[in-house]
Amino acid sequence: MSQDNQLYEGKAKILYATDDPNILLTYFKDDATAFNAQKRGQIVGKGEVNCQVSAALFQYLEGKGIPTHYLDCPSPKEMRVRNVKIIPLEVVVRNIAAGSLCKQTGLPLGQVLSRPLVEFYYKKDELGDPLLTRDRLTLLNLATPDQINQLETNAREINQHLKTIFDDCGVTLVDFKLEFGLDAQNQLYLADEISPDTCRLWDKTETDPQKRVLDKDRFRQDLGQVEDAYQNIQDRVLNWMSRFS
Ligand code: UDP
Repeated sequence: MSQDNQLYEGKAKILYATDDPNILLTYFKDDATAFNAQKRGQIVGKGEVNCQVSAALFQYLEGKGIPTHYLDCPSPKEMRVRNVKIIPLEVVVRNIAAGSLCKQTGLPLGQVLSRPLVEFYYKKDELGDPLLTRDRLTLLNLATPDQINQLETNAREINQHLKTIFDDCGVTLVDFKLEFGLDAQNQLYLADEISPDTCRLWDKTETDPQKRVLDKDRFRQDLGQVEDAYQNIQDRVLNWMSRFS
């Protein structure tokens, strides 16, 4: 894709326009950032893993009746997607306490939550992506009350599907982040990516809190074998898809 078509370069992806105004092309980079881009690096092969894992999960979810922005992958690191307007929210679903939930509430790492938690964070780097209440979401005109309910319903349904897939793959889905977009008719689509960059994934057979980590926490916490963990997730998910979907 030529430089001329480039619309935007983010931390992990580059977005290009195509000949069709309804379709965008996403290129998944190997670049990795953490802690609001204070830590930077490269994870060799990450672009392909994140593109292929996301593509497989989006196709599966679409088959289960959840609209996604996914269209197809013209190459291993490129995904064609519907041109939707991204709602500037990170919709986080948690099954097990980890990360900022532990930091902000004191819940111990690994505590199973009695009901999955759905949270909304404001996607705004300069504010540090703060946690929002429903009232603040409405106040900021980020989503209508109906859209907030729809986001929560979709997030819970997606969680049920992803939990089943990862569980079958021998992986515990601890938590993950989703992004959604709206088309010109205000139809809601699941967008962005679902990958080891955006999920916490623990190997079910490992109890060691470092060895079990198969996601971006290996990069965030300098645990080593980052590439192996990403590849491991791609192998398990694509293998599962070829057998069960
Ligand atoms: N997450 C993400 N992008 C972000 C923030 C969080 O993909 O900008 C994912 C993260 O990988 C984890 C989940 O959302 O799977 C919950 O993250 P948390 O709020 O615990 O934040 P963190 O501890 O990563 O700062």
